[in-house]
Amino acid sequence: MSPGNEHHYPVWAEIDLKAIGHNCREVKRIIPEKTRFMAVVKADGCGHGALMAAGTALNNGADRLGVARAAEGVALRQAGFQVPILVLGYTSPAETRLLLDHDLTQTVFDPEQAGEFSQNAQALGRILKGHLKVDTGMGRLGLPAVPEAGEDVLFKPEALEQALNTARLSGIHLEGCYTHFAQADSADKTHARGQLKCFQAFTRALEEKGLTFEFCHAANSAGVIDLPESHLDMVRPGIMLYGLYPSREVDHQAVSLKPAMSLKTRVAQIKEVGPGFHVSYGSTFVTGKRTKIATLPVGYADGYRRNLSSRSAMLVRGVRAPVVGRICMDQTMLDVGHIPEVEIDDEVVILGAQEGELIPAEELADLLGTINYEIVSTIMARVPRIYTDPA
Ligand SMILES: *Cc1c(COP(=O)(O)O)cnc(C)c1O
Repeated sequence: MSPGNEHHYPVWAEIDLKAIGHNCREVKRIIPEKTRFMAVVKADGCGHGALMAAGTALNNGADRLGVARAAEGVALRQAGFQVPILVLGYTSPAETRLLLDHDLTQTVFDPEQAGEFSQNAQALGRILKGHLKVDTGMGRLGLPAVPEAGEDVLFKPEALEQALNTARLSGIHLEGCYTHFAQADSADKTHARGQLKCFQAFTRALEEKGLTFEFCHAANSAGVIDLPESHLDMVRPGIMLYGLYPSREVDHQAVSLKPAMSLKTRVAQIKEVGPGFHVSYGSTFVTGKRTKIATLPVGYADGYRRNLSSRSAMLVRGVRAPVVGRICMDQTMLDVGHIPEVEIDDEVVILGAQEGELIPAEELADLLGTINYEIVSTIMARVPRIYTDPA
């Protein structure tokens, strides 16, 4: 459905698939020809819709998909996607059959748990595909490979044995090995380069022991943009596919990204009020002069966070209008006294552009003390996603 098509939703997210296509081609443009491109579409494609994001990415240079959860991979399979899908996060070994039945590749990081996956797969007479994840300094998921302070080695020697033992399990085939950056989006790349050095020393040592992988990979969006030496056999960009830069510190000149999501609503009611008029729960906003208050059918249960109350703005007729009073579960008020032409049913932009004025995800993120990732990925499921023509 294109945004020009008739719909009457009170609040909706417009997803520009051409922008997603463009962003994917930008990834392709800056990675080596032979480097594989896994489009990370976890968390419903960071709120953009995993199925549409995945289809668009695969039509524009991606050759495989990454998800956080097995269920996200299952949904992609049920929608007909046949490319390799890597589950980046935890899955219980009790779900081995689910992974096998949907041909999902599972991240493994713990030798004992990998043993359970292997046993379960063998009991079914099958072999589970896996990628070994190595923790080189993210401190999250991964076989711990970071040496302790003072140890004069590039990686923990025990990790080598653990990786080799995991690779020997006959119910798992380790086709990949990867790590994840903690600070590739910082201006200072010292930590990221240290992680890459640890990872490459580790995979080289495994190679010397006879263990090789089809795919060694490390780069998230920040790595794709700022660390060409991290591109290796494959890259795993997420946020940049949706047109957002992973931080302000990455090189914005390296790629030109177009934000794909706009969030919109409509004016439900307009009230002409005098001074002393109370707005919303707690009456935290009281008008100081004669003005107009517009009521909008969007609230925190759509993902428009209550902490934005009396702090954020929206676009009405191309003009910024401040949110006044508390944001409710399903409704929010704007002061539109300075926008004389405003009418009921007018389109209001919560996130995105209108007549040359812009509210970027970063603006809302700054107000909330968070990052652009959280803004787009927490738009709730009840908000319909309206897609522009496919790219
Ligand atoms: C989320 C994630 C990515 C993508 O990260 P972006 O910063 O969105 O590009 C890549 N790899 C792993 C393991 C992830 O969890």
